[in-house]
Amino acid sequence: ASYLNPQYTFENFIEGDCNRLARSAGYAVANKPGVTSFNPLMLYGGVGLGKTHLVQAIGNHIKNTASNKFVLYVSSEKFTNQFIDALKNNNMQNFTNFYLQVDVLVIDDVQFLAGKERTQEIFFHIFNHLHQAGKQIIMTSDCPPRELKGLQDRLLSRFKWGLTADLQQPDLETRIAIIQKKLQAEGIFIPPNVIEYLAHSVDTNIRELEGVIVSLMAQASLNRKEIDLDLARQTLQNIVQHVDKEVSIEIIQKKVVEHFGLTLEELRGKSRRKEYVIPRQIAIYLAKEHTEHSLKSIGYHFGGRDHSTVIHAIQSVNDMLKTDQEVKAAIQSVQKQLKLKMV
Ligand code: ADP
Ligand code: MG
Repeated sequence: ASYLNPQYTFENFIEGDCNRLARSAGYAVANKPGVTSFNPLMLYGGVGLGKTHLVQAIGNHIKNTASNKFVLYVSSEKFTNQFIDALKNNNMQNFTNFYLQVDVLVIDDVQFLAGKERTQEIFFHIFNHLHQAGKQIIMTSDCPPRELKGLQDRLLSRFKWGLTADLQQPDLETRIAIIQKKLQAEGIFIPPNVIEYLAHSVDTNIRELEGVIVSLMAQASLNRKEIDLDLARQTLQNIVQHVDKEVSIEIIQKKVVEHFGLTLEELRGKSRRKEYVIPRQIAIYLAKEHTEHSLKSIGYHFGGRDHSTVIHAIQSVNDMLKTDQEVKAAIQSVQKQLKLKMV
């Protein structure tokens, strides 16, 4: 058993500035396992940024091109559990022998080994043995090695023998390409404006982005509707509320229009009437305060305004907050509704 999932390949891994080094190092290793100086290869990055996908792609590539090699993918959690079982069943010899036969060891999420001294000890032993024998070791972690608390120094120093590369948050174009690729794989069509909307709205985590697409498809088939912008907005409103601790621009807009008795169209629209402009600026201000969205992305959600308009809105609200009690009360009321820390 190799525990590789054939769905994760280089072909369906979208390359962008966010992952270029990690991908190309991974590709080099996939073509010459154990031979390059990238040994071990250590990939790190936040949740849902493609670590598992990439290391699985490396494993699959080796399996498909060098079928004599024994490629093993294992999560650190599984490795730990196997080790504990082996201890319990007096089976250590088998456990160790099994790992020493591996040609390519992919071990995912090594941060999980933190504080597990005996598991680290056996891993250290296996690591040394494999590395000396010219076998390839590939690891992932959710943070850079230097920040891996609870891991023994002798292990950490070995992690740095090879190459360490990070996976960062994807930029807008990469997110759009990832969405398009997923849709293509699913064989479904979503209009370009909806794709753009999704890419702007879910910008920190690719797994979450996929979750949104799945929910959207489910919503569409449940309600027998075409996927359009309205459905996308509704879907996002529902799941972001549940899934995300962070508040979304959608919800901020919804609460602001409820507070002021406007419609979403009025809030996002072009009209310069004062009764729209102030709520709009307040919503923009709240979006900047309480979400991770860039100015560009916030502007997009407010009728495609540019980032200087967004900056202007935030400044106006900051000014009004100093003098205008009504504006301050409105903002606090919306913040309260959103269960956010108040100004
Ligand atoms: P991690 O292991 O870093 O938490 P995963 O590898 O599980 O993240 O990725 C989460 C999801 O996002 C997976 O379904 C994966 O296929 C997808 N994904 C991540 N990065 C990319 C990418 N560059 N191109 C295509 N899909 C990606
Ligand atoms: Mg993972």
